[in-house]
Amino acid sequence: MGGGNPVIGLLGGGQLGRMLCEAANPLGIDIAILDDKHAPAKQAHNSGRHVSGSFKDPLRIRDLAARSDYLSVEIEHVETEVLEDIEKNGVEIDLADGSTVVHRPPIHPSWKTIRLIQDKYLQKEHFRTSDRKIPIADQVAIETGTSAIDSLKSVLSKFGFPFMLKARKGSYDGRGNYKVTSEDDFEPALNALKGLPLYAEKWAPFVKELAVMVIRTEDDDGNLRGCVAYPAVETVHEDSVCTKVYLPPREVSAKICEKARELACSVIGTLWGRGVFAVEMFVMKDGSLMVNEVAPRPHNSGHYTIEAVPYMSQFKAQISAVLDLPVPEKLTPRVKSSIMLNILGGAAPNSHHKLTRLARSTFGDDMDVYLHLYGKESKPGRKIGHITLTSDLSIAELEARAKPFIQLVDEIRQ
Ligand code: ATP
Ligand code: MG
Ligand code: MG
Repeated sequence: MGGGNPVIGLLGGGQLGRMLCEAANPLGIDIAILDDKHAPAKQAHNSGRHVSGSFKDPLRIRDLAARSDYLSVEIEHVETEVLEDIEKNGVEIDLADGSTVVHRPPIHPSWKTIRLIQDKYLQKEHFRTSDRKIPIADQVAIETGTSAIDSLKSVLSKFGFPFMLKARKGSYDGRGNYKVTSEDDFEPALNALKGLPLYAEKWAPFVKELAVMVIRTEDDDGNLRGCVAYPAVETVHEDSVCTKVYLPPREVSAKICEKARELACSVIGTLWGRGVFAVEMFVMKDGSLMVNEVAPRPHNSGHYTIEAVPYMSQFKAQISAVLDLPVPEKLTPRVKSSIMLNILGGAAPNSHHKLTRLARSTFGDDMDVYLHLYGKESKPGRKIGHITLTSDLSIAELEARAKPFIQLVDEIRQ
């Protein structure tokens, strides 16, 4: 379809789509993006196949499918009924001679995976009840129809305080989570998440959060071929938003990191389709692991791979997996340590400028600095870019070296 080169149709054109395009460009692979006209990904990749509109609009999704050899997503909050229909029945394409053909672009990851992951409660029930018995925090669905306050009282009797009240669908960057610490929080929590299907999760008193990106490969008949894991990284969340990522994790044993990789492959083994996936986990005091959630796509915790695993970044891996091109058997970073710092919009549109100036002007023998801006307008708390630092120092030494960056990142949030 793309003059001999395959075309991947992508639902969503935010920063993940933009970085996917940056990886696709040198490979000569076209990405057709379905999103707003000026979406970050469209700024980075010119294509005659882009579609303007919402990635939740079935008609536009069908239009994208008609222009693409493969379909994939950069966000899980998409319309899956139409993806299921495209897989089963295809889309009709009109040919120049007036005839029509049915076109069936493979969809990766599978719509089944996307649909399951969209509902965080069902996602985790699936992991918990799979024969792999994946550990998750105890959770209960809040049934609609019953009095919401009564439901929260019954959650309290099961879990005690604090517990997390969460929207089952549509959440990201913690928007959709409410930490409930006393009965006084019941009303505000229900108001904040009004109208959404909810569930409650037992508080996980974790000592660290880890994330593991994996590449899942599968043959065209849907048989799992392999799962290759990137190293575990430490993710730091502040107010439920990921702000920093550390490779390797600070003060986490190599044994736990290895266990995290095994757990990630175990989790991904229960899903369907090709692509990269992120598995977010909690490390508990006794060293045991619990799965928080899965993202069926490239992920913030894997941005560091652009510079630290340059021969197979998570974006190149996504392209390779979707197209069923070869992927490495092992993913070994080319640096000893890396820190990724998110640039979140501050109170003023220019709150982050001091930080970007520092990133543009720092050069050293001991640390490399890579600035990524996403072409998004700055709004308070919005992810508008990130900075990756890489080095051959230990992670503790790199953290010390990175102090001016970390201070400025923290200042923006105040
Ligand atoms: P994302 O942007 O990763 O999709 P999200 O909106 O889906 O985020 P979660 O991953 O559910 O939100 O939660 C965000 C963060 O809130 C977690 O990374 C963790 O720091 C904290 N958190 C979530 N669930 C719990 C829990 N049960 N106990 C303690 N902390 C939790
Ligand atoms: Mg999430
Ligand atoms: Mg999360």
